[in-house]
Amino acid sequence: MDIVEERPYRYRVEPRGAMRVPGIVFASRGLLRDAEQSLRQVADVATLPGIVGASYAMPDIHWGYGFPIGGVAATDIAGGGVVSPGGVGFDISCGVRLLAADCDRDALRPALGAVMDGLGRAVPRGAGPGGVWRLDGPRQLEHVLRGGSRYAVEQGHGDERDLLRCEDGGAVADADVDQVGPRARERGLGQVGSLGSANHFLEVQTVTEVYDPAAAEAFGIAAGQVCVMIHCGSRGLGHQICSDHVRAMDRAMARYGIDVPDRQLACTPVDSPEGRAYVGAMAAAANYARANRQLLSHAARRVFRREAGVRLDLVYDVSHNLAKIETHRVDGEPRRLCVHRKGATRAFPPGHPELPEDLRDMGQPVLIPGTMGTASYVLAGVPGGDAFHSTCHGAGRVMSRHQAARTVTGKELRARLEGAGIAVRPLSMRGLAEEVPEAYKDVTEVVAASEGAGLCRRVARLEPLGVVKG
Ligand code: 5GP
Ligand code: MN
Ligand code: MN
Repeated sequence: MDIVEERPYRYRVEPRGAMRVPGIVFASRGLLRDAEQSLRQVADVATLPGIVGASYAMPDIHWGYGFPIGGVAATDIAGGGVVSPGGVGFDISCGVRLLAADCDRDALRPALGAVMDGLGRAVPRGAGPGGVWRLDGPRQLEHVLRGGSRYAVEQGHGDERDLLRCEDGGAVADADVDQVGPRARERGLGQVGSLGSANHFLEVQTVTEVYDPAAAEAFGIAAGQVCVMIHCGSRGLGHQICSDHVRAMDRAMARYGIDVPDRQLACTPVDSPEGRAYVGAMAAAANYARANRQLLSHAARRVFRREAGVRLDLVYDVSHNLAKIETHRVDGEPRRLCVHRKGATRAFPPGHPELPEDLRDMGQPVLIPGTMGTASYVLAGVPGGDAFHSTCHGAGRVMSRHQAARTVTGKELRARLEGAGIAVRPLSMRGLAEEVPEAYKDVTEVVAASEGAGLCRRVARLEPLGVVKG
């Protein structure tokens, strides 16, 4: 793939063949090592009908289904722009939530073991059914799909204040539950309030460095403070919705005269029956994922209160697998766009009207998990921004699960992490080995590239004290 460095941390793939726009990749040379396959995907995404600006990729880019993970693409709805489930991913609205404890690491130390044991018991995880909230039936699931975190809070699983610190106030408005198929509902019914498997986690962390004291203060975090980071998504429900709608679009595409270089890019116009159906179902899954993170937060709160007398306040909750209808200026004109972010995080600039009032001057909090053995970051949106106000979502994988598990046993890894002072509560030893920190890029390099490219700024660095792994 021919790729030209336009300026530091910004690379360009010139439009060729069926590409309608260039590819723009924010990264460093080092981060792009072995990225050939995912750069091909950046070029393929650039062929989608109605795409505007560029096919973007964030510094944590790696191979994904159809779109690369770390991909951002916006399509012009009025101009026949498409929506593609592969541009959102199977774990619809997978995202991260950060809670800040009213104590610092030294104060928590004596209780940490008991807290970790409590969390290990309280957090349902693994691939199968089981969640902290047993719904009373399919009707209640519809309330979750429509109401997201808001419904969970209304039912007593959180505080009103939590909703102020959730993207979209805890629920997206355009959920259409009629577009959620029977199999998706069946899978979703028994998994509300569960973590899922290996890459999903609930981690106890501490703030080890503050880069932007004013933003950190507004977000409610300070050096030495204990935090809890939760990473999970929409479980089997989201996965099934993605599968169902990819199949429907694959069948319908030809009718719209759409030809894509890779069947995994199946798509139809946003403004078509299939496009509207997917957008409505995706929004329902987004609400499910938000309720899921809300319920796990509440479960963590109970454990912290009981075992350590500690309170947890929500810093922010943000998705990194979602398509959103947003208005952006394209060639000077405001246009309604469908912005796909897959393994990419929205990063609204300071002053954005959709930000909670108490955070507005600082820009949107962006939560970046790294690995269970290294660090994670809190970032913030910056004026200008790029890629429709998007930035990275994590460190990004460099090794497959299979490769990773060949480098270390779960037992060895657990001993190594415990030796470094990180308490580990894994579900399976094999799953743990697949998540060895070396399986990911260096999150510090990813964050530096994101900041260097002008996508965000650093606010704070967090390091793990204990991890509950799916
Ligand atoms: P994804 O959503 O792509 O599955 O994962 C997002 C990011 O989470 C990964 O790129 C990786 O950097 C990070 N991650 C995966 N497992 C852990 C963990 O146990 N702890 C932390 N802090 N980050 C993790
Ligand atoms: Mn996920
Ligand atoms: Mn995720």
